[in-house]
Amino acid sequence: MDLYEYQARQLLEEHGIPTPHAVFAQNSHEVAQAAEEIGYPCVIKAQVKIGHRGQSGGVKLVHTRDEAILTSEQILPMSIQGHKTSGVLVAEAKNVLHEYYLSISLDRGSRDFDVLATANGGTEVEQIAKEHPDAVKRLHISALENFDLAAAHAMAESIGLYHADVDQAAQILLSMWECFKSTDATLVEINPLAKVGDPDDESSKSLCALDAKISLDDNAAFRHDGWRRFVDPVLPDPFEARARQHGLHYVHLQGEVGVIGNGAGLVMSSLDAVSGAGEDQGNGIKPANFLDIGGGASAQTMNESLSIVLADPQVETVLVNVYGGITSCQQVAEGILLALDQLVVSKPVIVRFDGNAAAEGLNTLSAANNPNLHVCPSMQEAADTAVSLAVRAKEARR
Ligand code: GDP
Ligand code: MN
Repeated sequence: MDLYEYQARQLLEEHGIPTPHAVFAQNSHEVAQAAEEIGYPCVIKAQVKIGHRGQSGGVKLVHTRDEAILTSEQILPMSIQGHKTSGVLVAEAKNVLHEYYLSISLDRGSRDFDVLATANGGTEVEQIAKEHPDAVKRLHISALENFDLAAAHAMAESIGLYHADVDQAAQILLSMWECFKSTDATLVEINPLAKVGDPDDESSKSLCALDAKISLDDNAAFRHDGWRRFVDPVLPDPFEARARQHGLHYVHLQGEVGVIGNGAGLVMSSLDAVSGAGEDQGNGIKPANFLDIGGGASAQTMNESLSIVLADPQVETVLVNVYGGITSCQQVAEGILLALDQLVVSKPVIVRFDGNAAAEGLNTLSAANNPNLHVCPSMQEAADTAVSLAVRAKEARR
């Protein structure tokens, strides 16, 4: 799960990292209130889960209450690269003397953690990293190692910080590491980490985080109360919400053929097969959802999956495509029959099995003699059948 900037800042603050005072607001009235509380000038920042907001006009400095209201009325309805703004952050504006970049991320390639730092932070950081890779300092931390003060100091010095800044940056790096570990994050990034203050007054200068990006590992949600406090206030899709309650990986789509399979790769291929069949037949039929029942699914899992998909009024037919590995096709067959017994809806279910207990599973389905059940020997044929039966079901209702 990616966090919004205002949520990421909250986690940084909880770990003792200095960030300018800021308030999240969702309408111009709240913005005006927040701006009055924070004082002027302040920054109005679009809250979207995408970078480069500054370059897209989503970060603006304002000097008066009227300007704050006007600017928020421009930013709140904005979509940045297809992402709808969920609100704005009204933040104390700082006099920025220099912008650094710090991040800690999970490096799947090298199977360790990656600390990155550069003195060329700000909005052009990717460009600079490409053109001057030497300017980016990097430290790998293996899963069994820890990141300590000495290493953090060395890192801070390596990007040209000196005197008190080194101590402060090292402390911030260690706090980022604490935050990274304790929240089960895959990324904790501060860009810019800004040196702020009055250029003529040395004692006023310090480092603080002006922007933050944090991604949390969804697999660890159970250890954090599901990160309930970070869940989007936007109402979730009811089918997705129901699937999540059952621990199923489900994505709602626009089409007519429900798709259930085991393993993300197989489900993706099944979606492609359905879309391809719809194109070949020239009827524009498309998949209605992605649903991965995962490995070792029980009859109960299959029953719940089919119930969720069949409850969707846009679904005309369902394609079940299972490759038995740990999952036994016999168990899946029993789950299908259980669901069809319990549900009143009678929509065609097209099944293709392969692998572990495929023959037994198919026999069980055939023996049930259910007119809504169709068994196909190949994925292609199953997709073709699901699409043509969906067209027929649609026409029958006209
Ligand atoms: P991003 O474009 O999505 O990464 O959004 P940021 O929050 O990083 O803001 C973009 C840029 O706006 C920063 O790199 C800063 O240069 C500038 N900025 C953000 N906050 C402040 C601030 O408080 N004072 C000043 N002077 N500039 C700011
Ligand atoms: Mn930024």
